[in-house]
Amino acid sequence: MSKFYVVATPIGNLEDITLRALRVLKEVDLILCEDTRVTKKLLDHYAIKKPLLSYHEHSKLAKIDSILKELKTGKNIALVSDAGTPAISDPGSFLISKIKAKFSKTESPDLSTERFREKFGDDVQIIPIPGPSALITALSASGIPSSEFTFLGFLPHKKGRETLFKEIAEAKRTMVFYESPHRILKTLESLQKFAPNKKVCIARELTKIYEEFKTGTPLELLAYFSLNPDKVRGEFTVLVSS
Ligand code: SAM
Repeated sequence: MSKFYVVATPIGNLEDITLRALRVLKEVDLILCEDTRVTKKLLDHYAIKKPLLSYHEHSKLAKIDSILKELKTGKNIALVSDAGTPAISDPGSFLISKIKAKFSKTESPDLSTERFREKFGDDVQIIPIPGPSALITALSASGIPSSEFTFLGFLPHKKGRETLFKEIAEAKRTMVFYESPHRILKTLESLQKFAPNKKVCIARELTKIYEEFKTGTPLELLAYFSLNPDKVRGEFTVLVSS
């Protein structure tokens, strides 16, 4: 039976990778990645040499077909993204759904006993290898209530954006989303307009040299980032308290 591993990789600091992830990356036949240059940097750091095949959001169906064929021949494959956990605001879910559709003998949850597996087990086992994700890393050290939250991924640029900010303003639980440095000021302005009294935490450059958590009202954060343009750089995760 082939194995398809969904492997989490560091979000900045190359030490943030599990022993199991390293072993799997060493053992598989092929690694699917978004940008081969990014993944090669990680593999070089750990002296892992493996064939890499790019798989990203624009990959064609023909690419998926060739991956399915590799699995059918018994190859073990790992999927990684540029950073963090694959399929979380990153490519992965569509490919995994295709693998399940092709190789799953049943999706029925009440028949998943060991005996059932032996008899009717899937031809490809999909195995998650957990590790870093920016949203969980941000939540864990933000001091923002984290037992219940909603993750919004990246906010839409146009359609539905205003509705989403209204939802954030009325939310009864913490809202978390990803943002780019080009849009962070615009987003803070929208928060100031729709949710001026909310407590917001900006988690920037997590696990990297310039890691920073900055908490305040939207207005306070706007003032901070406007006065410190050198901080409007890098990667941002935004948390808005309920
Ligand atoms: N799959 C990834 C994960 O599990 O975190 C997320 C991929 S998504 C394409 C990339 C976005 O995640 C960035 O634009 C940023 O908003 C957020 N992000 C990634 N790394 C980060 C970091 N080191 N610090 C803060 N946010 C980060």
